[in-house]
Amino acid sequence: MRVTTLSGVPIRIHYSFLPLIFLFPITTSSILVQNGLGDSYLLSVAIGLIYLFAIIGSLLVHEFAHVLCARLFGIQTMSVTINVAGAFTKFRSLAQTPKEKAFIAVSGPLASLLLGLSLLMVAFPPVPYLSFLPLPGRDDFAALGIVASILCTLGGLNIIWGIGNLLPIFPLDGGHILFAYIWHRLGNEVSAQRAAARASCFMILLLFLPFAFIRRDPCMGTFGFFLLLLNLVLAFAPTHAEPS
Ligand SMILES: [Zn+2]
Repeated sequence: MRVTTLSGVPIRIHYSFLPLIFLFPITTSSILVQNGLGDSYLLSVAIGLIYLFAIIGSLLVHEFAHVLCARLFGIQTMSVTINVAGAFTKFRSLAQTPKEKAFIAVSGPLASLLLGLSLLMVAFPPVPYLSFLPLPGRDDFAALGIVASILCTLGGLNIIWGIGNLLPIFPLDGGHILFAYIWHRLGNEVSAQRAAARASCFMILLLFLPFAFIRRDPCMGTFGFFLLLLNLVLAFAPTHAEPS
């Protein structure tokens, strides 16, 4: 579903994201009430909506870093789509060299990290920023006030989003960076993609098995299973893909 156009790039919202538009403010409002930040239901929902739009904005900052970096290399963008798992960018053409691919892939996480650090610096200019990561607790909320706690939470989420995307797993940006590195070393794009997908499988087993079996977390287990399937397909039937 196309909602707007930014810098000539159509912005779409996938139908999977629509339930979050209603669920996110309600969920957030209950958290805020628990933390003593919401006196009224309307105020809580309003804060929830601020979070919702701020998170969409954060996702767009990440994706447009990819878009603008790709544009520097002459690669145009078809669309940016926000979905329930985050967002992805569809390019009109592929990176022609490992260097182009690496720069495009790393630009998104770098933008998220810079945005996250900037938000924390605005929220807490006089104090050590990193002591508030990954997210503020109940006491922090009460002491900081609404604006600072929103900025702190968004800052933490952007930093987590930036670091998480650097994991060397397809289709995360880190998987594309690994792909670019192997492509640079081997000089063969198809072999590099296969090798990067095999490395992704290893990383998925390493990271998701503990959640699936030791912690018995069905969500992480299912997510890991589908990521594993995707990478097995890429490892044995390579296709071209660009950073998400
Ligand atoms: Zn990305």
